[in-house]
This record gives sequence, structure tokens and C-alpha cells, in this order.
Amino acid sequence: MRSYKLYSPSPGEGLETPNEPFTVAASEGLPPSPPEPFYAMVISPHPDDSEFGAAGTVAKWSREARQVVYVVCTNGDKGTRDLTLEPHDLARIREEEQLQAARMLGVREVVFLGYADQSLEDTPDFRKLLVRLIRTYRPTVVVTADPYRRYLWHRDHRITGTVVLDAIFPFARDHLAYPDLLEEGLQPHKVDEALLWASEDPDFCIDITKTFEVKLAALRCHKSQVGNLDTEFHGYQMQQWLEDRHRQMASNKGFEFGEAFHRVEYLW
Ligand SMILES: [Zn+2]
Repeated sequence: MRSYKLYSPSPGEGLETPNEPFTVAASEGLPPSPPEPFYAMVISPHPDDSEFGAAGTVAKWSREARQVVYVVCTNGDKGTRDLTLEPHDLARIREEEQLQAARMLGVREVVFLGYADQSLEDTPDFRKLLVRLIRTYRPTVVVTADPYRRYLWHRDHRITGTVVLDAIFPFARDHLAYPDLLEEGLQPHKVDEALLWASEDPDFCIDITKTFEVKLAALRCHKSQVGNLDTEFHGYQMQQWLEDRHRQMASNKGFEFGEAFHRVEYLW
């Protein structure tokens, strides 16, 4: 079992107060089940992937008073080109950046699993940990990376997506999958749908026109990764690339900016 940290912004924090210092209640160990199920669980390989993939959607859900929890699998301690930065310092910086972004988006809780960057494997322990978290928060929707991108895809993204989909179905759903979790009181849980970002086969798009600026602001929290969104990316200035990309995702849909996903519905 990995140890992990749980951060819960206090009530009232979130989109309305994006400029106040981020105060959190941090705790080590397993999170208790919240009294009400959360609407969505966003599971990212690294700090910043949730913002690239789904920040506009997360901000929209928060504005609709839907509870969102983040699960961040690795600490991102290899994500730099700065030769002077030590991995543990980078991990600490990225945790702070992730918390700032989460708070800006109105995310209620952030769980850091603390695996090392580039270390994820499809193991029984990792799968069971994700099942534990799904049964704890009981989300209607799980959002994560599409594992089925071909050729050029970060190994942590491919493995996260694979293990999340397995954890949802059938392991979180079936009570005989982990009798010890049931004994602890963690009931089986059926997720209604998964939304997969960065898909080569997008078939579902969420209108983020009203939250696109918040998405950009949340991405700017990840300074160690994106600077001020003015760095070059795919031959563009990054902010321009994001605007073009999310406008393209929304083309012919009747709104300006969208976040596109491959959607999986669990019907039984
Ligand atoms: Zn990543």
C-alpha cells in the first residue's frame, strides 16, 4: 500500500477566491468516505495532466456545485529540463502547483499517491488502490487519459488509463473482487461513465466556452511545466495552441471552446 496525502480546501474556497493563499488541511493515510458520493473523480498520471485534459470541464462541474476529487498518481519528479533541479525539489514544486490549480478550479479534495514519475506499472497493488478510491468517493463519472493512443504516448499515461478502466470495470463493481475491502465497509460501486482525454477517437465534447479562461489560469499555475503559457509548443506559442485546439474540438458543435473525450458508458 502506498501512503498518500489528502488535501481538502475548506468550504467556500474555490472559484470565487482564486487569489487568496491556498490553505489546506493535509493528512496522511487513507481518506474516509465522504457522506455524499462525489460527482467526478479525475485520475491523472502527473500533476498538470488533469488541467490539460479536463480543467474546463472540472471548472464547469464545480460551478454547478458538483463535487470533484483529483487523484494524482505520480509526483512528476522527472518532468524538467533544468539540470540543476533535484527530483525531490521538483516533486514539492509540482505538488504546490497542482494544489493551486485544483483550488482555482473548485476541486474539493486532492489525493496524491506519490509514485515516482515514469515508474507506474499495471500491478495488482495499483489497481486495488484505485478500486479503494473509487469505492471511497463513489463517483458517477471518472475522467482519465485514453490508454489507446498509438505510437507516441507517455508510458505513465498509457498505464494509468489501462489500470483505471480495469479498476472501474469490473473490479470496483464486483463485491467478490476484494472481500477485504468489503469487510472494511467499502461497498462495491458502479461508475456510470468514463471520459478519456487525448483520445484519437473522440466522440463526446463538453462546452467549456464559459470556463476556458479558468482553464488557462489553472494551467498557468503549473509554471515549472508551461511557464506563463508563452513558451513554444508544437511550433506555436502555447496559449495560441490551446485556443486553436479547443476551438477545433468544438467545431460544428454550436459553441466556441470544447474539451473532447472518448466516452465509455457502463450500462450494467
Ligand atoms: Zn503527464
